[in-house]
Amino acid sequence: MSGHHDDGHTHEQNEAELRTKALESLLVEKGIVSTDVIDDVVRAYEQDIGPMNGAKVVARAWTDPDYRERLLKDGTMAIAELGFQGAQGSEIVVLENTPETHNMVVCTLCSCYPWPILGLPPTWYKSEAYRSRAVIQPRAVLSEFGLELDESVEVRVWDSNSDVRYMVLPERPEGTEAMSEEELVGLVKRDSMIGVAKIPSPAPAV
Ligand code: FE
Repeated sequence: MSGHHDDGHTHEQNEAELRTKALESLLVEKGIVSTDVIDDVVRAYEQDIGPMNGAKVVARAWTDPDYRERLLKDGTMAIAELGFQGAQGSEIVVLENTPETHNMVVCTLCSCYPWPILGLPPTWYKSEAYRSRAVIQPRAVLSEFGLELDESVEVRVWDSNSDVRYMVLPERPEGTEAMSEEELVGLVKRDSMIGVAKIPSPAPAV
């Protein structure tokens, strides 16, 4: 993987982080917001608001076979069809999980992430432990996330970088045949699009 993570990429990211920290300190110091409020906003972007775009992409792919085909062929283009622009200068590749193949995504060198569709990366994604172990012991890492895969399932780990970022198209769970595209959006959670979780079947309506 030549050209992976040039210094400019990392430098830019650190500067953005510093500016963000400085801004946060100022807001807290002036009593404008509390750190709790900031934490809540960050959490919302990590878990809910950010990954919504990805959830829409997944639900469309589950309900429209032509779209699914376009998505797997050229993720950047198909995602742009729904109005979500790729990270500048980087391509988004979509990997389909099936009963036979499980894909998961990591950035071993820093924290490259498909933010236009998933928002901010969660803290664990940026952690040294995840970055170093995902490639070497993917099954152990998945099991820590509560995902036990059968020995017969092939696990593929994809290392993101500033040029190519990956998103997983999770399997559509059983029992969702009658659900609308909009209802399906609500089922799709962030971790399933990073490939560290599956989407459980919805509880049957009582
Ligand atoms: Fe990175």
